[in-house]
Amino acid sequence: MANSSNYKLSAATANLKYTELYPYKDSAVNSKEFLQKIVDVLMEFVRSTNDRKEKVLEFHHPEEMKKILDLKIPEQGLSLQSLIDDCATTLKYQVKTGHPHFFNQLSCGLDIISMAGEWLTATANTNMFTYEIAPVFILMENVVMTHMREIIGSNWKNGDSILAPGGSISNLYAFLAARHKMFPNYKEKGIATIQGQLVMYTSDQSHYSVKSCSSVCGLGTDNCLMVPSDIHGRMIPAELERLILDRKGKGHIPFFVACTSGTTVLGSFDPINEIADICQKYGMWLHVDAAWGGGLLLSKKYRHPRLTGIERADSVTWNPHKLMGTLLQCSTIHFKENGLLMSCNQMAADYLFMQDKLYDVEFDTGDKVIQCGRHNDIFKLWLQWRAKGDEGFEKHMDKLMELSEYMVKRIKEQPEKFYLILEPEMVNVSFWYIPSRLRNVAHSAAREAELGKICPILKGRMMQSGTLMVGYQPDDRRPNFFRNIISSAAVTEKDVDFLLSELDKLGNDL
Ligand SMILES: *Cc1c(COP(=O)(O)O)cnc(C)c1O
Repeated sequence: MANSSNYKLSAATANLKYTELYPYKDSAVNSKEFLQKIVDVLMEFVRSTNDRKEKVLEFHHPEEMKKILDLKIPEQGLSLQSLIDDCATTLKYQVKTGHPHFFNQLSCGLDIISMAGEWLTATANTNMFTYEIAPVFILMENVVMTHMREIIGSNWKNGDSILAPGGSISNLYAFLAARHKMFPNYKEKGIATIQGQLVMYTSDQSHYSVKSCSSVCGLGTDNCLMVPSDIHGRMIPAELERLILDRKGKGHIPFFVACTSGTTVLGSFDPINEIADICQKYGMWLHVDAAWGGGLLLSKKYRHPRLTGIERADSVTWNPHKLMGTLLQCSTIHFKENGLLMSCNQMAADYLFMQDKLYDVEFDTGDKVIQCGRHNDIFKLWLQWRAKGDEGFEKHMDKLMELSEYMVKRIKEQPEKFYLILEPEMVNVSFWYIPSRLRNVAHSAAREAELGKICPILKGRMMQSGTLMVGYQPDDRRPNFFRNIISSAAVTEKDVDFLLSELDKLGNDL
């Protein structure tokens, strides 16, 4: 894509084609030179990601970006030097999600150990469906999943878990297992075995993937009830019970409650114990979507009261690629009861999961999932956990939470410039930025509407200047507001100060 390069291969190698590398040629020297140059390109990205003087992004509109980049697939293959240049150009225009001034997403940061794990994973290039082709990784998965279940609750040790391609799919696994548990014939006989309308419940703050289960699995979104939340964004248990009784009165079958531990926008925690009491009373499955907040299970200081009662759930989604900073993608789903995943999803493909293999086929995890091939997402988490230990993760969690508390404190110290929307329970800090012209205006719905209009403009300015990224969105109660996320080990108090002063610099005239 780029014509000139800072990454020059030797004259002897630069114009060679892929056919001069492994496995086409027995060419350790060429292959090594090529790959080491790629590592140089990657290292420069890692370096600039961690350099506060570098921009977070270099923004171009799609039409402009198309002109800058040469993305076409050529008739004749390109030289090794062109490929190196392609790699350098690709990273040049990539948003640095590990930059200390990137506060935009729940998954961010660039954990070096986890990245090293991802490199190894790519090199091993194996599939996770059988022990036969991934013996070490399968055993690692076993150890790490058991460890995570023990952290959820001492009564979870003998449960079951699997890594899924994202929290949304993890939530889907919970739904499938719950339905299977209640209607074991569904797998063979299908929808006709369920005599009545299944109904599921989640809060109006839940992640949209929960609602998506209801449409994907044949309930219809009208049968995913969005239970009202209180002003803190927590599900109101009395409302849950009211809506269960309402549907029971109609002869429906309420069967599944997904409560959220760490909501995506506000970072709120539903009261698990009270919801568990209701599930127990009506014989319903309790799923805890802790995709976002699960990391706090690792902190003695912050686990309670947020996740108190989680051990009473039947299933838990927990995304290490969020708060724990594991590289994308790494999501886990855990079940208290063993065997459900297998009996629910097993298709016993006889070309893959033969029962007469050399080894104990219990270790062929591939038949527990609705995928066939499964990416290896465990190694980068295992290696990261080896590096940090439980203690390192606990420190990481405490630091993220303390930085968020620091941000709240700094916002409160500047009430003329910032309006804190609610006291956060997590690292989501929701606020408005107040430009000069609105500083002496009393707060009202009209002012909120004005503050809301400022968000997209200020976000646009952040992206144009390339100095900062913070997300914004509206919710049911208010117009656009900023949701700042501190989920990266790179962030310090100084970066929080920078964030607030940069917002003021970019936005005071709006
Ligand atoms: C992010 C998130 C999800 C979805 O996870 P993906 O890995 O993005 O699919 C589900 N639930 C909650 C609460 C989340 O924050």
